[in-house]
Amino acid sequence: MRPSRKSMGVPLHSHQAIQFKLADMETQVEAARLLVRQAAASHDADRADKQLSSIAKLFASEMASRVGWDSIQIHGGAGYTKDVCVERLVRDNKLCEIGEGSSEVQRMLIARAEYAKRSA
Ligand SMILES: Cc1cc2nc3c(=O)[nH]c(=O)nc-3n(C[C@H](O)[C@H](O)[C@H](O)COP(=O)(O)OP(=O)(O)OC[C@H]3O[C@@H](n4cnc5c(N)ncnc54)[C@H](O)[C@@H]3O)c2cc1C
Repeated sequence: MRPSRKSMGVPLHSHQAIQFKLADMETQVEAARLLVRQAAASHDADRADKQLSSIAKLFASEMASRVGWDSIQIHGGAGYTKDVCVERLVRDNKLCEIGEGSSEVQRMLIARAEYAKRSA
């Protein structure tokens, strides 16, 4: 966020609507971080949990797009331009929803693993 940017005479971050958006963004980032760490820990412990890896990959990559779009919104018109880096981050992140197992494929793997667990 551009700390110097003011609207209606006050910094952007003083507006509750912006604070709520930032809080939701931070919550999603932290949730993704925890999922990724948990999945990595299961691999490190030689107890690789493939379903958890898919959950972490799906949530983190889609979260980054959602948070990226929110970031563009907070930056206003400047966020839509190449003057600030967020539009590039959103474009670059889209590949994370496609490569190394697309979101659709991750959802199939998660559902299949869940079905296998519940019917075992
Ligand atoms: C910039 C870039 C770099 C890349 N780098 C690499 C790389 O280094 N190594 C590598 O191996 N690959 C790489 N890829 C390829 C990438 O892994 C594939 O694009 C990805 O796996 C999707 O395959 P596809 O493009 O053939 O899409 P398709 O398989 O044609 O799928 C198209 C869409 O349909 C969905 N879909 C497909 N099958 C199903 C199904 N059964 N059920 C529901 N939905 C389905 C997909 O999720 C996707 O949304 C790269 C791609 C890009 C754009």
